[in-house]
Amino acid sequence: MANKGMLIVLSGPSGSGKGTIVSRLLQERDDTVLSISMTTRDPRPGEVDGVHYFFTSREDFEKMQSLGAFLESAEYNGNYYGTPESTVRNLLDEGKNVLLEIEVQGAEKVMDFRSDVISIFITIPSMEELERRLRGRGTEDDETIRSRLAVAKRELQRAFRYDYVVINDEVEKAVQRINTIIEAEQMRFARMDNDYIRGVLDHVETE
Ligand code: 5GP
Repeated sequence: MANKGMLIVLSGPSGSGKGTIVSRLLQERDDTVLSISMTTRDPRPGEVDGVHYFFTSREDFEKMQSLGAFLESAEYNGNYYGTPESTVRNLLDEGKNVLLEIEVQGAEKVMDFRSDVISIFITIPSMEELERRLRGRGTEDDETIRSRLAVAKRELQRAFRYDYVVINDEVEKAVQRINTIIEAEQMRFARMDNDYIRGVLDHVETE
């Protein structure tokens, strides 16, 4: 019924498990795709160019920025990140829902100039739980964990800007909650193809 895809912005602090939630969601829904961002940060082991990100230089990123090629872009942790505008537009036109997994500054920019965006903030049940998860990874030292917790706190303070807040207490449940949001949003009258209701009315016998 909805002929155009929906633009869905998803943010959440590091350790909120948003990456896992997104991959589960994409496995379950063939109407939804993830936008691949461009970044100037170095690839991490196992990351593939064109799959996880399009990795690029600061110079090329800035060139694209000046050409207006990004739907939004932001600097995070000393690196640039941006959402290529034309890819997103094409996917929406094809009828796909497009997920942007982006940090809060970029998300707020999209919300500021697009009234049709659906925004979802993924959160953890408590700061204690977040600390436990970050320490559980065993990959970061004390100082890095403290700094990540401070960033998470700042990000959580922006949750009020989002349409929906999804608590990731259990991955399964969090994915289910996002599915519920997508299903409900697809039923909004404003999103429906006008021809659909017109088609139904055409079959009503008038008195
Ligand atoms: P990471 O370097 O850990 O992959 O990502 C760091 C942060 O940048 C994450 O919060 C991620 O969601 C965000 N991010 C990834 N791509 C984009 C993008 O295109 N734009 C913005 N604004 N943030 C992004």
